Amino acid sequence: MSDYSIGVDLGGTNLRIAAVDAEGGLLEKLTTGTEVQRGRDYVIREMCDAIQSLSTKHRATGKLLGIGVGVPGFIDMDTGTIMRSPNLQDWANFPVREEIERRLGTKVILENDANSAAMGEKWLGAGRNIQHMAMYTLGTGVGGGIVLNGRLWHGMNGMAGELGHFNIESEGHPCGCGSHGCLEQYASATAVVRMAREAIASGNAPDLAEAAGGNVEFTSRSIYQLAIQGHSTAQKIYRIVGRALAIGIAGMTNALNLPMYVIGGGVANAWDAFAPAMFEELKVRSFVYNVTAPGSVGPGAKHTVVTIALLGDDAGLFGAARLPMLPALTQTEPVRTPALRATSSEEAGIG
Ligand SMILES: [Zn+2]
Repeated sequence: MSDYSIGVDLGGTNLRIAAVDAEGGLLEKLTTGTEVQRGRDYVIREMCDAIQSLSTKHRATGKLLGIGVGVPGFIDMDTGTIMRSPNLQDWANFPVREEIERRLGTKVILENDANSAAMGEKWLGAGRNIQHMAMYTLGTGVGGGIVLNGRLWHGMNGMAGELGHFNIESEGHPCGCGSHGCLEQYASATAVVRMAREAIASGNAPDLAEAAGGNVEFTSRSIYQLAIQGHSTAQKIYRIVGRALAIGIAGMTNALNLPMYVIGGGVANAWDAFAPAMFEELKVRSFVYNVTAPGSVGPGAKHTVVTIALLGDDAGLFGAARLPMLPALTQTEPVRTPALRATSSEEAGIG
């Protein structure tokens, strides 16, 4: 008998659900397409049906500890709502957590998908032996998560860890968040393809243009294949990815001096194409990194590790399953408004 929980990874294309025991053993995993276009109620019903069938099937395994659901978007942990999600447009400001809890009659933890991935890597992946880390998930966008003392750092209301929106170029490419030059615009799969298309359009990348010609599957992965085959423009694009990551990680290293930064998501598979530029730039961009890099300290001394994630696509799923196993903790920081002496009726909120 082993107690278990159910983790859900609700992506823009796939809905994945897993029953995981308290030791991190996978009991069962279900994957279905997310038919987002059929609307929120349809997706929630599908999800709840699948959770119910898993929990019925594994009833004899042990006690169901709870359900963790990772979703893309900005989450308000206090209210259990999705504030904004590019992939789940009609979900904004809908009480998702409450609705799932009502349907299942069980406590549910709603979490940002990149935070879930960070928790997964902390529990069973690259960060399993450390207490503090930050994770970057390089996918369609760039997600982030910060783990401090073994727990996710949520900030005031659950929106902490948006590492993909660290500024890399102050007037750089416009970002979906409303800013310009965010990390996401230089290190996501979308950005890699955009930079390749920009290079082709400029007329300065005949090698890339030839490779892209007639290739309907022109993706960050195929651009990586070109980079390792020696195409100079593809190599240059991945050096931009590495440099952008370094600027982001340098900011984090300077601010928090964490022992580990984990890089996951599909683009992380191009590690050998971007990592050399990343490590080179990191030493320039962060003094803290420079003096704590593995090559700068003696054997056995504390050092900063920047490394690839180990769980692949399953990080978010395992992380979501982990959440209900952790002892209950206030998810966000309570905010107490100081008892200021009001100087006008407006400040006192009685205008
Ligand atoms: Zn942004």
